[in-house]
Amino acid sequence: MTGFADASAPDIDDHGFTKTTNGPARGPTVGVIAGRTIRVRVVRDRLSKEAKLFPVAVNPAVAKVEFPEDGTPLSPDDNGTRHGDCVYIHGVSHGGDAAETVVQLHFGAKDGPIIAELAVRVYKLISINVQAHVVDLFDDNPRNDWPAGPKLTSKRVEQGFALVNQIYAQAGIHFALAKELMHETVHHCERRGRLTIQGLTPDDDVETQTVMSQNPVPDKLNAYLVNIIASSGVAAAVGVGGFGQSRDKARKFAPDPSRTPLPFPGGQVGLVAALQNEDKDWVTIGSFAHLAAHEIAHMLTLEHYNKRDTPFEQEDIWADRCLMHVHASWESLEAPPLLGQKRSSASRQVGYGQFSPGMISPGQLLMSKLRPKLETSFEITTLRKAAAAKTFAPLLP
Ligand SMILES: [Zn+2]
Repeated sequence: MTGFADASAPDIDDHGFTKTTNGPARGPTVGVIAGRTIRVRVVRDRLSKEAKLFPVAVNPAVAKVEFPEDGTPLSPDDNGTRHGDCVYIHGVSHGGDAAETVVQLHFGAKDGPIIAELAVRVYKLISINVQAHVVDLFDDNPRNDWPAGPKLTSKRVEQGFALVNQIYAQAGIHFALAKELMHETVHHCERRGRLTIQGLTPDDDVETQTVMSQNPVPDKLNAYLVNIIASSGVAAAVGVGGFGQSRDKARKFAPDPSRTPLPFPGGQVGLVAALQNEDKDWVTIGSFAHLAAHEIAHMLTLEHYNKRDTPFEQEDIWADRCLMHVHASWESLEAPPLLGQKRSSASRQVGYGQFSPGMISPGQLLMSKLRPKLETSFEITTLRKAAAAKTFAPLLP
């Protein structure tokens, strides 16, 4: 796989040969929203182009093979808009929430021996309403040491969330962005024009939580967008690029009015992310969307891959393919290491491309398989349960 997540060509979860829930597919798992069609490419490993391969859905009432047509083998060549060696799978029925079937690849004839299997999970579309807030930050002694930057436009925010939706299609979740942006102003910040995270984590950070407490809209996912996020002190060593907090986590922090110059408003549910950056041009729309999607997953209770945080992050190909890897973007081999985000040569071979020159994108897979020894597997089921429980909804006074 290469490049940004594609809603019609989702990443497959090929963590071993473990089954998802219903199984027992002896192969990878892919997700599709009911009523939509995705494509999955078959890789011929030491198999001739002339070999005839027939994809067959075991339960076409759940998902059917839309192309190639029934009784027709895969063609290694493109056919009009159809990509060569791709199986086009249409989600037929989600059975109430999620249903699963298997697509089998038969050799030689449609009832020939099975040489590969793919589990297909068909999801009911879950829609989450999003309110975006654009936040202007001011300090007490205007030093003008940071430009306020141009105003974020609703078009740019829309572009960002369109990409977030490409990532979440594999989980059957869609984010519906309110047309109007809300504009917020926060005074008494450490520095003008930037969110400065001062604690080790943003969980109980005054500026972060103050930003996330600005006019939260009930029952919606509130996204707070700033020009730049910086961290000072111990936080700088961790390198926080964004932050997302679920209801359960937010409840752990009580208000503390004794803190100055900003009183601590208590833990709040929300996400903060930088969408525009005057200093570094690598905050592209793609890296914003990747980061926002990662933080949204935290709001829907997902943790980092295998619960590994910096500097103990897991470095293997599977970990690097996941959206919930602790790093949201990586530097190239040529760039000097920034905050420990330089990656091993193995991860650079995964091939997700670059957000912008020199900034390597990690993967955007959300795991659908259950792996007993990987604490954070089964991500899509966790996400969907959290969405139903509205863990993204703000705490209201
Ligand atoms: Zn994270």
